Amino acid sequence: MSADPAAAYLRPGTLQLPAQPPLTLYVHVPWCIRKCPYCDFNSHALPGAGAPRTAATLPEARYLDALRADLEAALPLVWGRPVASVFIGGGTPSLLAPEAVGRWIADIRALLPLQPDAEITLEANPGTFERDRFRGFRDAGVTRLSIGVQSFDDACLGALGRVHDGAQARAAVAAAAAIFPTFNLDLMYALPGQTPAMLAADLRAALGFDPPHLSVYHLTIEPNTVFARQPPPLPDEDSASAMLDAIVAATEAAGLQRYEVSAFARPGHRCRHNLNYWQFGDYLGIGAGAHGKLSFPHRIVRQVRWREPQRYMDEALAGQAVSNEHEVARAELPFEFMLNALRLKDGFERALFAERTGLPASAIEAGLQQAQARGLLEADLKRIRPTPRGFDFLSDLQALFLPPARRGRG
Ligand code: SF4
Repeated sequence: MSADPAAAYLRPGTLQLPAQPPLTLYVHVPWCIRKCPYCDFNSHALPGAGAPRTAATLPEARYLDALRADLEAALPLVWGRPVASVFIGGGTPSLLAPEAVGRWIADIRALLPLQPDAEITLEANPGTFERDRFRGFRDAGVTRLSIGVQSFDDACLGALGRVHDGAQARAAVAAAAAIFPTFNLDLMYALPGQTPAMLAADLRAALGFDPPHLSVYHLTIEPNTVFARQPPPLPDEDSASAMLDAIVAATEAAGLQRYEVSAFARPGHRCRHNLNYWQFGDYLGIGAGAHGKLSFPHRIVRQVRWREPQRYMDEALAGQAVSNEHEVARAELPFEFMLNALRLKDGFERALFAERTGLPASAIEAGLQQAQARGLLEADLKRIRPTPRGFDFLSDLQALFLPPARRGRG
């Protein structure tokens, strides 16, 4: 084995990346008070939820040691590259004590060249327990809070199996608005039993806080969830589509711009971390089950960490946090790039494709022509962007860039 752990990544290959893209850091915290019935994230219910938290229920110190070991082992792959943002997601990262978050941010700053103005987001649930810690998170260095409100309606929250109620959600958002320079609210729509009037009330409640950023997701039934086994009664497709129209109209009237399929922001408050994903930037993923994407001059590599928290901690502390790693096949890169970049309302500059994939522009020419012929895409000499119709039929548009062997396979 080479003494230089990065050597294998730097050997010759078929791609020619002219420069490395911006790098961000994602950190996963894999525990929640309990598992929501729709959730397919890598989140695990804390044992003994409801009991006082101890190292036995939330092994905070050991997890932080594992994160640090994971990051240290990954450093040779990102040596010297500035880090533009950090996103601490989950799971429920707000279960960590502010002191633990502070220690972790200090570790990151000690190990990586974090840009001085780096955006540092922490995902928080709106329970009272978490709300009391918001100021501590701010003091620990978090610059942006993302609150998983989902709905302000008690019946919808109950149907989603959430641990908070509408009053707690309102109190949490008010606290975040008072403490953080910028914050995000996550909302969901097409919920079990949700009517247009209930959605309108949720939107009024959310927009009443003047949020700098709003993320709104359609509830989808994912395999291997409780909802997949026992599907709840959901609004039909037409109703869900009318709900999305109502969301777009209400957010626009409130001065928020829809800059990505699910993301709405005031000027200056777009999520820099997520923008980097959508612009096919690089991200190092640290923590249980975290995914990462790293570019080298001649290849793009995807990594996944061990998913189960105990296993992850054992492996990371032994210097083996990565459970799976593969080089993205050249033929898959046009689709992978488009899967992300076409989510952006303003699309991307033409030159970005070659810059981020290391492929010639000709690799997407046939797909571009088909998409334009179908009215799904508009392109000029400089930019490529989805048309309003392309934005509405995004998966059809993205599928035009699949490798020929995978087209028509659904
Ligand atoms: S709080 Fe979020 S991450 Fe945790 S189980 Fe519910 S949806 Fe999943």
